[in-house]
Amino acid sequence: MTTIIRTPNTVEKITQMGDLTLYEPAGDAPLQERYHARHLGDCIANLQTPTGKKPVLKTMITTACERNCYYCPFRAGHNKTKRVTVKPDELARAFDQMQQAKQVDGLFLSSGIIKGGVTTQDKIIDTAEILRKRYAYRGYIHLKIMPGTDHDQLYRSMQLADRISINLEAPTRERLEALAPKKDLSAELLIQLQRAAEIKRRDPTIRASLVTQFVVGAVGDTDLELLSLSSQLYAQTGLARVYYSAFHPIVGTPLEHLTPTSPQREHRLYQSSFLLRDYAWEVEDLPFLQNGNLRTDIDPKRAWADQVLRDQPIDLMRADRLQLMRLPGIGRKGADAILKARRERAIRDLAQLARLGIRTPQQLAPYVLLDGRRPLQQLTLF
Ligand code: SF4
Repeated sequence: MTTIIRTPNTVEKITQMGDLTLYEPAGDAPLQERYHARHLGDCIANLQTPTGKKPVLKTMITTACERNCYYCPFRAGHNKTKRVTVKPDELARAFDQMQQAKQVDGLFLSSGIIKGGVTTQDKIIDTAEILRKRYAYRGYIHLKIMPGTDHDQLYRSMQLADRISINLEAPTRERLEALAPKKDLSAELLIQLQRAAEIKRRDPTIRASLVTQFVVGAVGDTDLELLSLSSQLYAQTGLARVYYSAFHPIVGTPLEHLTPTSPQREHRLYQSSFLLRDYAWEVEDLPFLQNGNLRTDIDPKRAWADQVLRDQPIDLMRADRLQLMRLPGIGRKGADAILKARRERAIRDLAQLARLGIRTPQQLAPYVLLDGRRPLQQLTLF
């Protein structure tokens, strides 16, 4: 009897890739993203995008790769990964059908590398081009930029996409060598980010934002290294976001024996990164331990406040907006509410802050002055 082997259709192929893109963050709320993707159980992730929450198809041109990054399920020779490849026009057609059926409203497109970065990037570009031209798709597209992509391809990708990722993976040359020996941090990755920033500066019609990703904790990388490079890149390239992906060992890879990185470390890195990006903190302000890492048991703002503000409290009636935003539990909204309220009347007790929408104002007691004096702290009775 002859066995007929049926070739999977495009949607089946895309679904087969679903789980494999689970650890690749793509939206604006990366910590929740993994949870949602897992619960949707396939290739569609409910992502926070710059234009709101959307069901985004996370997929790849191919799960085959000629490189050998030690942490990656797609690495050459990893025989536990099913290799699936789609052609640009079949992927674009399938996406269009899913979009017409209102199953998806956004695409995150990545790929393993086959025949070099230039050939692979061409396929990514072709897919986006077909969607934009043939299917007149105007929605959200996030494209990965392959190592080795040339300048014109980078430019074209940025014309087509709302967001591009150039993943650095590690914060120094030595760390990258231990993680992905065929990648070159300066010549292949950092240079792409600099080129992308230059393209954005020169061409105001380019709306694509830039993001990057680090794999955290597999090869001794410290929070200080990761956040120093992040800070530099925020300042020099206008990065919209840095993703910190806690290392998760994959069976059958050279790093399978390593311990996974704690999600709490990932969380503290995101908190610190936002302080650098949105709160005008410098890397030197962050409360690193001697080993170059942050405490994971306490948020970085509170750890800093404990070190600094207990001796030099912030006067709530005199502090400027950025100083107010240094306080644990006070963000932009809270700082603005304090500035507005104190123009109308003096803030004399912490209970007033609760009426401004600041949660747990008693926790601010060790760090502030009210009316030139430290507020009374509530005693905790046991
Ligand atoms: S180049 Fe990308 S897909 Fe290929 S092994 Fe490295 S991380 Fe994985």
